[in-house]
Amino acid sequence: MSITVVGSIAYDSVRTPFGERERMLGGTAVHFSLASSFFADVHVVGPVGEDFGDAQMAEIERRGVHTGDVERVRGGRTFFWRGHYDYDLNIAHTDDTQLGVFAEFEPKLSPQSRACDVLFLANIQPELQLQVREQCDRVRFVALDSMNLWIETARDALVRVIETVDCVLLNDAELRMLTEEPNLLRAARKVIGWGPGSVVAKQGEYGAALFTAERFFGLPSFPLETVLDPTGAGDTFAGGFVGTIAAHDSEPDDELLRNAMAHGTALASFNVEAFGTERVSRLQHGEIEARVHELREITRFSGAPLPPRR
Ligand code: AMP
Repeated sequence: MSITVVGSIAYDSVRTPFGERERMLGGTAVHFSLASSFFADVHVVGPVGEDFGDAQMAEIERRGVHTGDVERVRGGRTFFWRGHYDYDLNIAHTDDTQLGVFAEFEPKLSPQSRACDVLFLANIQPELQLQVREQCDRVRFVALDSMNLWIETARDALVRVIETVDCVLLNDAELRMLTEEPNLLRAARKVIGWGPGSVVAKQGEYGAALFTAERFFGLPSFPLETVLDPTGAGDTFAGGFVGTIAAHDSEPDDELLRNAMAHGTALASFNVEAFGTERVSRLQHGEIEARVHELREITRFSGAPLPPRR
């Protein structure tokens, strides 16, 4: 099954306690596309500027991602994000965001992108997410990501898009902020009340939690000794999660959503091992399988609850 994704296609400048990179390939749609391309046909939608390099485009296309709906805007500048992390890698500090070509972008999807089975609205202005959502009217499953910037500056538009999707993926802090609800379970249930059948709360190095109207499922992150740069981990998680759903013909029931959580967790663990897209770009499918197996092992336990002491 095919996936269409709209989100940022970017240059990122990132500093972590372990190093820094200037203007590397990034963007929410890029991280998502590279990850989900392991499981489905992916069409990426978004603009780039004249400064966007052929090498960066080739890196996206090498994974078989369809780039026909990537519009190169004459005289425009590619979306740019500068950020840094201190020793708490769960907190990204944004130093600069330049929307560039996204400020004027009006998405017009090709028939191939419009005919997708699964749609991912990666983090970008909610108005753009809505325009893309409206063009994909035959889609089977829609998921959405966002961030604090849009919750603060475009909350009404964001809630309007959320009402039209099946699944919302957000950091736990963003979920609390969006719903003004400090309790995560209540926050997730509030979002489910707006329409989506499921909510995923991403919790950085602590893992991710899946909420549906009646059920809950949690996974830790994959244990790693070396973490260099968490940029894109959320989108890479989403790529594994949504990609797994797209790889199955069946309705995304609880079992499939849990399997998707495991694949999202495995994919994200590779992303953080190197800067930007470096690790996922050279990832092999067998490595993903191995980590999903290992995740099953580290989350397994047996034995019934203990009886009361006599
Ligand atoms: P994450 O997966 O949450 O770490 O997202 C990282 C990516 O988000 C980076 O590659 C950035 O280019 C991109 N990004 C940062 N801020 C924004 C924004 N306001 N809108 C869209 N994309 C963004």
